[in-house]
Amino acid sequence: MLVIDGSQGEGGGQILRTALALSLQTGKPFRLEQIRAGRQKPGLLRQHLTAVQAAAAVGRAEVAGAALGSTTLEMHPGTVTPGDYHFAVGTAGSAMLVLQTILPPLLTASGVSTLTLEGGTHNPFAPPFDFVADSFAPLIRRMGPSIELELHRPGFYPAGGGKLQVVIHPVGQLSRLDLLDRGPIQRRLARALISIIPRQVADRELACVQQHLGWSEEECRVESVTHPTGLGNVLLLKVETEQVTGVFTGFGERRRSAEQVAQEATDAAMAWLRAGVPVDEHLADQLLLPMALAGGGSFRTVRPSSHTLTNADIIRQFLPVDIRVEQESPLAWQVVVASR
Ligand code: AMP
Repeated sequence: MLVIDGSQGEGGGQILRTALALSLQTGKPFRLEQIRAGRQKPGLLRQHLTAVQAAAAVGRAEVAGAALGSTTLEMHPGTVTPGDYHFAVGTAGSAMLVLQTILPPLLTASGVSTLTLEGGTHNPFAPPFDFVADSFAPLIRRMGPSIELELHRPGFYPAGGGKLQVVIHPVGQLSRLDLLDRGPIQRRLARALISIIPRQVADRELACVQQHLGWSEEECRVESVTHPTGLGNVLLLKVETEQVTGVFTGFGERRRSAEQVAQEATDAAMAWLRAGVPVDEHLADQLLLPMALAGGGSFRTVRPSSHTLTNADIIRQFLPVDIRVEQESPLAWQVVVASR
């Protein structure tokens, strides 16, 4: 059995999610030790436990150690079974990360799946709904499967209560994807989302976008959540180019100014715009797994994060792939995924 050290590299939840997804996909059992040892509160939190339960349900798997706070988990996968599933995190923990866990095996399952997921949809340190819908999913579609996402209600920390639906039409085999250039920018949109937060917070965030990125008023929009479940605010910057769409986020928090929220998003967007590459920091770690399942792919990206390097290490433990990361200029790196 594969024994995986959950404290390696980044030492976070990504190691768990990648192991769960690839165990279902390959049928290989695994034992994960020292789960999330690199985090302040190690072990399985509600969000991770829901991901484990979701993987066990979708993969008809037997699991030992699936409990809150558990730092060891053993998984024996069965058959990946497409269908209608409903998973609720039960807190504001990210529902998007539950999706990240079970999506890969369902992309090549034997039939259509409809997932209803509840929890947080716009959480710091997780892909917001809009990133998955506008940046990640279009690239997955280019690899063959159809995937439709619909946000019923946003969920923010600490209230949660978000809900989304995902419909997946799989393919037999994912096709390779090469993303070496992004092509010209076609459209830009800044959306300041507010839920029971004064409108002036959104206005100040958008003023920063206009000032720091030079975007016009027409490219900026305030959106007020219609049926709020709690306080919340995010600033979402979307840049559509010919080949990819970048989505950069600033997360509102108690005692964090509108200007700080805006700066988080504009700094991330600027780093990507300056580098002139198609794939941003977060997309890089999330594309490795589907490319490895496709048996090949490549992309140009910004400096790889420790998330990306750790994810590559876990993927190599499950699949016979080489993942090469090479710097090609001061701001650009090339990542090549190939079957061994
Ligand atoms: P971990 O910290 O190990 O639980 O993993 C966090 C996951 O969330 C990784 O897949 C990151 O790429 C992703 N992520 C974190 N922040 C963002 C963001 N602002 N936009 C998109 N994805 C994100």
